[in-house]
Amino acid sequence: MRFFFKTYYFFVTLFLPIAGILLAKKTEIEKVFLLKQCSRFCHDKGCLHGSLLPDFLASNTGLFGNTIGFLQKAGFALEELGLPLGTGYGAANLIIFCLIPPVLHLIMFFLTRRLLK
Ligand SMILES: [Zn+2]
Repeated sequence: MRFFFKTYYFFVTLFLPIAGILLAKKTEIEKVFLLKQCSRFCHDKGCLHGSLLPDFLASNTGLFGNTIGFLQKAGFALEELGLPLGTGYGAANLIIFCLIPPVLHLIMFFLTRRLLK
């Protein structure tokens, strides 16, 4: 059981964020439109490829669009709190996707250790 939890926490807390950073760095250099796959161009300018996911997940009115809308609102709120204009959206992304999940996993890791003793 301990091996399972150690493997889980290693994978979720360390491996996934590092893999995400490496993937983001790879797509960062592909800012041109690629015919056969999505690139940073799709993120920045809008995707012209056919969606592989259903609309309730991938459309602008589905989970993807709602998430982007929430991040924009959170970014505006952060800018009203004092962040420079134009930096709130990025800061909201970092806080919600890069700061909160690792902190939650670290808390869960220590709770799990305490329960397994
Ligand atoms: Zn695309």
